[in-house]
Amino acid sequence: PSPAPARMDLDGNPVAPLTICMIGAGGFIGSHLCEKLMAETAHVVLAVDVYCDKIRHLVDPAPPHLAGRISFHRLNIKNDSRLEGLIKMADLTINLAAICTPADYNTRPLDTIYSNFIDALPVVKYCSENNKRLIHFSTCEVYGKTVGSFLPKDHPLRKEPEFYVLKEDESPCIFGPIVKQRWSYACAKQLIERLIFAEGAENGLEFTIVRPFNWIGPRMDFIPGVDGPSEGVPRVLACFSNNLLRREPLKLVDGGQSQRTFVYIKDAIEAVVLMIENPARANGHIFNVGNPNNEVTVRELAQMMTEVYANVSGEAPLDEPMIDVSSSQFYGEGYDDSDKRIPDMTIINKQLGWNPKTPLKDLLETTLTYQHKTYKEAVKRQMAQASAS
Ligand code: NAD
Ligand code: UDP
Repeated sequence: PSPAPARMDLDGNPVAPLTICMIGAGGFIGSHLCEKLMAETAHVVLAVDVYCDKIRHLVDPAPPHLAGRISFHRLNIKNDSRLEGLIKMADLTINLAAICTPADYNTRPLDTIYSNFIDALPVVKYCSENNKRLIHFSTCEVYGKTVGSFLPKDHPLRKEPEFYVLKEDESPCIFGPIVKQRWSYACAKQLIERLIFAEGAENGLEFTIVRPFNWIGPRMDFIPGVDGPSEGVPRVLACFSNNLLRREPLKLVDGGQSQRTFVYIKDAIEAVVLMIENPARANGHIFNVGNPNNEVTVRELAQMMTEVYANVSGEAPLDEPMIDVSSSQFYGEGYDDSDKRIPDMTIINKQLGWNPKTPLKDLLETTLTYQHKTYKEAVKRQMAQASAS
């Protein structure tokens, strides 16, 4: 293969190849970012994770044309002294490592808080002490609930954008009470954001904070009983995919009235590459990365996924494709929900000129085609085994 062409930043300057320490590189977002960096840039990646199944094709072993470009470091950042050495070796650290599935927030709140706050602390400290740039992955959940959600259901102000659009530097962070342990994740992410921001203000840390708004696509999470625990509860894309693959009704939590905006992983990854290659435009900023045009209720998402899956699989939908479940049945006590998530795109647009492209229908077609190809046979085998035993 020919070498990657020289890269230019948004101001027309050449981008020198960087060494990037990517923590959580083996996850959903990390795997797409590694692929993109390998395919289109000359940057070197030190990929850190506890597992590498999703990047095996890149690291085990690295294909000859990627020799010297990517290496896998199997380590748990909770307790591994090699972490500081890797951060020192790199120009830039990207931290993606986290427990980030809602089913864990109320059932494993200690692990959630430790993972999202305590375990991220040394990463921030090593970057600050060694004058290394940090791109830290936070979440849109730091906004919590919208201001409008506290108004009566049919109040006209609920329709006014200032009551729901989420702005990085203006919107408040609104969480439920402590007994609603759902918010353990959002709160831990908020505190690490504040710490990083303070390291920037007091010690000059060069940082960028990313707030993803429901990035989805191939390789997200796992299919229970196939490449993850049978009783595991992944995020909604994988939950609904699992139901469709098994020909079970999709489960709508508390009526499926919550609203989300979904962005295609490949669009979102382009925003991250812009941040990597334009430090002068990205440093010191918090960026929403989402697609405000792809808003649906969870119920509408279930309807769309049912229709799209019928097309890609050739299987007619069930007569009753959805059922209602309560959140306490589905997630247990302490669950709560974000009502609506519309990202304001002003800052990322102005700083990086980024806009999402892919409509929800298209990204569901690509993603469900992948799910069907990757999992249908395995799900059939697993269901046959389960019914035989
Ligand atoms: P993911 O679970 O697929 O990836 C996280 C990766 O981090 C996993 O591979 C995991 O093994 C690794 N990891 C966790 N703890 C670790 C540790 N102690 N040591 C080493 N590796 C560890 O999740 P993702 O969707 O790729 O999310 C990445 C980041 O983006 C997370 O910080 C998450 O909070 C944030 N985020 C993602 C979304 C989204 O839409 N996908 C939305 C909001 C926030
Ligand atoms: N949800 C659902 N059925 C499922 C899984 C999730 O109705 O099988 C809902 C969940 O209650 C939430 C939304 O889908 O309102 C998105 O959930 P996800 O786990 O993807 O994460 P979130 O966007 O809440 O961080």
